[in-house]
Parts: sequence; C-alpha cells; structure tokens
Amino acid sequence: MNQITKEPSAFSIYPIPAFDDNYIWCIHNSTHAIVVDPGDAKPVIDFLQQNTLQLQAVLITHHHFDHVGGITELLGKYPNIHVYGPNNPRIKGLTHYVKEHDKISFNSPEISLSVLETPGHTLDHISYFNEALVFCGDTLFSGGCGRMFEGTPDIFYPSLKKLGQLPEHTKVYCTHEYTQANLAFASHVDPNNKTLKEYANWVTNKRANKETTLPSTISKENEINPFLRCHIPYMQNAMQIAGAQSNNELAIATFASLRKLKDEF
Ligand SMILES: [Zn+2]
Repeated sequence: MNQITKEPSAFSIYPIPAFDDNYIWCIHNSTHAIVVDPGDAKPVIDFLQQNTLQLQAVLITHHHFDHVGGITELLGKYPNIHVYGPNNPRIKGLTHYVKEHDKISFNSPEISLSVLETPGHTLDHISYFNEALVFCGDTLFSGGCGRMFEGTPDIFYPSLKKLGQLPEHTKVYCTHEYTQANLAFASHVDPNNKTLKEYANWVTNKRANKETTLPSTISKENEINPFLRCHIPYMQNAMQIAGAQSNNELAIATFASLRKLKDEF
C-alpha cells in the first residue's frame, strides 16, 4: 500500500512507481490529485483509491509510451479530467494543448505551473515549472539527461541550459530513477568533482535502502551534472573540444561529445 499522510491545505508530491524505474509524480492535497506522465493507469488508480483522492488533471511532457500509456484508461474512469500536453497528434486523449509561456492554475491542489519548451530527447518535449519546482520528464535527469532520440545537440543543449537557469532552489522532478547509473558516468568524465563524489555516496546509500533519490535541485545539478557543465573550460578540455568557436558553439560541441560517450558507456 502506498499510503500517504494527508495534509489539510498544502499539497504534497508523491512518486508513484511504475514499470522498472519510472515515477508518476502525484501532486495532491487531502482530496484531489494531479498526475504527471501516467505511462500506466493501474498504479495511479490504485494510489488514488487507497488514499481516497479524486483525479483533477494529467500533465504530459512528451509522446513516449511510458509517459502517455495510461491516459485513455484514466479518461475512462475519470471522464471530467483535463489532460494537458504538447500539440502532437501521436498523443491520444489530450484535452488542452500547451506551449512555451502558457500558465495552468488549479484550485485543488492549489498550484500554478508554467510551460517551458525543452526539445531534444523528443521534439515535442515540454516541462512544467513554477518558482519552487520543475517537472522535466526525460529532458534532465539527476546526474544526466535523456537520450537524444529526435533532437540534435543544438536543439537539446539550449533546453538543458534553460533548465539550468531556473532558480537554484528549484526542485527537480524527473521521470526516471537513473541517478546511480548517471553518476557512474558523471564520475568517469568529472573524476575530481568533490561535490559529485559526496552526492554519489549519498545516492548509493539511498538506493541500497531502495529509496528514491528524487527530487534533486537545480543547484545540485549545476554542480554535479556534466550535461549542465558544458560551458566550463575543464569539461570542454575533458571532451577535447577546442578551437576558435563561440562559447555557445564550444558548449554545444561538448554536449554532443558527452551525449555520444554516454550512449556508449
Ligand atoms: Zn522519453
């Protein structure tokens, strides 16, 4: 049983586990809930029923099956919910298309979120953020980033940069528990990063106890995530990126090398 402690007014965010390593983030108060990227309806319905919560809305970041697979069944069970996502005909069941700068507000749980377009993993990928948190799907992971399935480095890197420029205290809610594997790669390309070493130890303990390592924070990611550090000369040197290019071009080339190296790691 994924039983939660109910708070009267403020909302909490609970990671509903799905598939092997997905989290379906559930924003809820004592009566209502919003879920992000329900790839599977069953764990969501079980969680809502166990905790007597009414589903209000669904937020979708991109079209991959493990993020959208539960929409139809959830709409069948909760026909009045709003389903937000990017305008991509491959996503069935959306009721509201959203794009960069759109703002979505809910009364229960009380939360407002803005949309950030973050293509690269897929071209339709969006993130949802406010002053305290970001739901970034498969764009940014703790210690890593999503695979570049549809984008190119000059599309993906600016998306990561946008996320890295959110306020430092912003909590990072990504979709997969990939942190430990990501940190093995991060430690390989950034072996002298003391903060990374400390974080890797913390993550190893968390995973040994089968606890989630998320949410992370933007400040943590800016310190330890190699994909957010492509603008720093030592990372460019590590990837052997040099030449008479602009800073932005150097960073994009560094990102491209890192992404390729990670694919083969
Ligand atoms: Zn994906």
